[in-house]
Amino acid sequence: MSATIIDGKAYAAGLRTRIAKAVGELSREGATPGLAVVLVGEDPASQIYVKNKARQTAEVGMNSFEHKLPASTSEADLLALVARLNADPAVDGILVQLPLPKQIDTQKVIEAIDPGKDVDGFHPINAGRLMTGVPGFVSCTPLGCLLLIRSVRRDLAGLDAVVVGRSNIVGKPMAQLLLSQSCTVTTAHSRTRDLAEVCRRANILVAAVGRPEMVRGDWVKPGAIVIDVGINRVPNPAAGEGKTKVVGDVAYEEAAKVASAITPVPGGVGPMTIACLLRNTLQAACLRRGLSMPMVDAAQA
Ligand code: NDP
Repeated sequence: MSATIIDGKAYAAGLRTRIAKAVGELSREGATPGLAVVLVGEDPASQIYVKNKARQTAEVGMNSFEHKLPASTSEADLLALVARLNADPAVDGILVQLPLPKQIDTQKVIEAIDPGKDVDGFHPINAGRLMTGVPGFVSCTPLGCLLLIRSVRRDLAGLDAVVVGRSNIVGKPMAQLLLSQSCTVTTAHSRTRDLAEVCRRANILVAAVGRPEMVRGDWVKPGAIVIDVGINRVPNPAAGEGKTKVVGDVAYEEAAKVASAITPVPGGVGPMTIACLLRNTLQAACLRRGLSMPMVDAAQA
């Protein structure tokens, strides 16, 4: 078997086009959605993420408000900025880029964001809404994974799903989303016994671990849908001394021989995260204006 490659880059581009159309309609009514992104410190990876978020926000026609604060920023100052953004009518979505410097309590900051503007879906109210099946904001990476899964198989009811990883931002919300699609869900983690055997039961296998190519081809059930969330930078001596490349948590070449569909790294889940952030910002803007969310993706169906 040779797997269908799930093209996250193309899916994300299509999603952004549909979002841009909806934003255009809101803008004609004088109600352009706005996303505020807060970056504390000079972490190089975070700087790249924030730059990409701001660029793509502007590209879909939304207002982008960037707040760059020094690494020495106090928790009180950051909380004061969050309070201002909560109160600002031009701001529909607020994203505080993580990780934060160690003098700042991350959970306190997450909980300070107005749940109605929490487009990252990290606030306990939104996490609780997901768990209880009430509409809210779903964290962007797992939402992107679900959209990719549903791009190759629409009805997931009754399928066995295994999510490897139980972080609050990926693993746990991913498991909840698959449960909401009536999958039978197993969440695996570093203490799971015989992980390979657990993975082999999966019709849908999501790897969100942060360990390069940990999931081998013989861990994959023939015909499974494999979603690789991992982003791992590893040495690439073939490209020259000191060169690196990005690989996922799945041994792609091996798994692609067994799976029915698989996301590549890069170009799979990665591009979906920002597209889903923009989607959530559109959702926030519609909610705040008392409008129904336009149909931009299958998450609503
Ligand atoms: P975390 O480090 O927060 O969580 C990793 C999870 O993997 C934990 O639950 C951990 O288990 C589990 N784990 C670690 N080692 C093993 C092992 N040997 N066997 C089984 N489970 C294991 O990571 P994140 O969830 O934040 O991210 C996971 C990956 O996804 C990373 O590579 C990250 O870069 C990537 N990522 C990609 C995004 C994208 O946009 N594509 C967005 C966010 C993350 P335990 O809880 O027991 O410690």
